Amino acid sequence: MIPTRPVWAEISRSRLTANWKLLRAAAPVEAELVAVIKADAYGHGAAACAPVLAAAGAEWFGVTCVEEAVALRQVSSDSRILVMSGLWCGEAEAVIEHRLSPQVWEPLHFDLLEEAARTLNSPPQSVRVQLEIDSGMSRQGVRSFVQLKELLARITPDSPIQIEGVMTHFSAPEILQPDETAQQLERFAAALDLIAECGIHPRWIHAGNSTTLLAQHHTPALLQLAKRHNARLMLRPGIALYGYPVPVTPQEASPSHAAQKLTPVLAWKTRIVSVRTIEPGETAGYNMTFKARRPTRLDLIPVGYADGLNRLLSNRGHALVRGQRALIAGRVSMDQTILDVTDISGVEIGDEVVLIGEQGQEKITATDLADLTGTISYEVLCAIGARVPRVMID
Ligand SMILES: *Cc1c(COP(=O)(O)O)cnc(C)c1O
Repeated sequence: MIPTRPVWAEISRSRLTANWKLLRAAAPVEAELVAVIKADAYGHGAAACAPVLAAAGAEWFGVTCVEEAVALRQVSSDSRILVMSGLWCGEAEAVIEHRLSPQVWEPLHFDLLEEAARTLNSPPQSVRVQLEIDSGMSRQGVRSFVQLKELLARITPDSPIQIEGVMTHFSAPEILQPDETAQQLERFAAALDLIAECGIHPRWIHAGNSTTLLAQHHTPALLQLAKRHNARLMLRPGIALYGYPVPVTPQEASPSHAAQKLTPVLAWKTRIVSVRTIEPGETAGYNMTFKARRPTRLDLIPVGYADGLNRLLSNRGHALVRGQRALIAGRVSMDQTILDVTDISGVEIGDEVVLIGEQGQEKITATDLADLTGTISYEVLCAIGARVPRVMID
């Protein structure tokens, strides 16, 4: 059924393309970029965003898991797909069949891939992997040199596994002072030396997210590292593609004009479906947290926390109506939210309401909602529910 509930998210092709171009121009020319479209393109819809990015020049995509990768393969037959959270039992066959490039670090990953390569074909097919080094994030990746040596010892001439890339992830790329990233880079460099000593020469070396790319602070060192190993550098921007650069600290260190030109790709919209006026002393919503002090005009929008509108926005957040900001009155419900439009004239059923995006001179960003709810733009965008249809525009 075509969605009929008046709640939707508009995804701007032209903004996504423009953001990609800005990032491409801000990155060193020698570097390749992985367009990170994990978590369904940060809530924007990977199946719709990937072709737009591919048309703009993206050759590599980063997804969360094998399931996301297989879905992406259906719409993108020749892109390179980086699977960023490893793999799990029962997924290695799909890795081979769909020519995926998983990040690996556990002996289990090697077991699964070797086994699948053996059973799928004889002689065994080769499987290209990206070896992850834990340089300080303590989340994924090979932690110690002992573990690294053990894994590398498994890459014998008859092993189906080919290490085509070696990568790491920085834990605080937006903090330029103190420079923890420099220490992570040192650990990464030491791991790369050990890998080279073992006779393994990856084609790609990658580290760094949107902030690393935009701040440009560590890209010279990364480029040098890649050069030393005769490899190509890759950077992995995600959030910036969607128009949300992360501010760096100290702020004056940011040279990034590109960051200021990025524009949010997603606009979250709905319509007014009911209006009423309540009298002074009357209340609105669960637990009577909003009490009218004057005759108060209330509007109903059919969006609630089940759609990803955070309940912490109750009595704090705004939506845009007729180009003005309307306060959320009372508690955000599961499927509905009430707005106070007393100071906005001429509001009618059917009027468009903007939760994230622009209307007239006003604007609400995912960062604004994140600031009110104690989180980051990433989570606000990812939280927009699956029942909110994503509509591609321009
Ligand atoms: C999510 C992620 C990225 C992209 O990060 P952004 O901050 O969104 O640019 C890059 N690399 C890895 C390993 C990630 O998990």
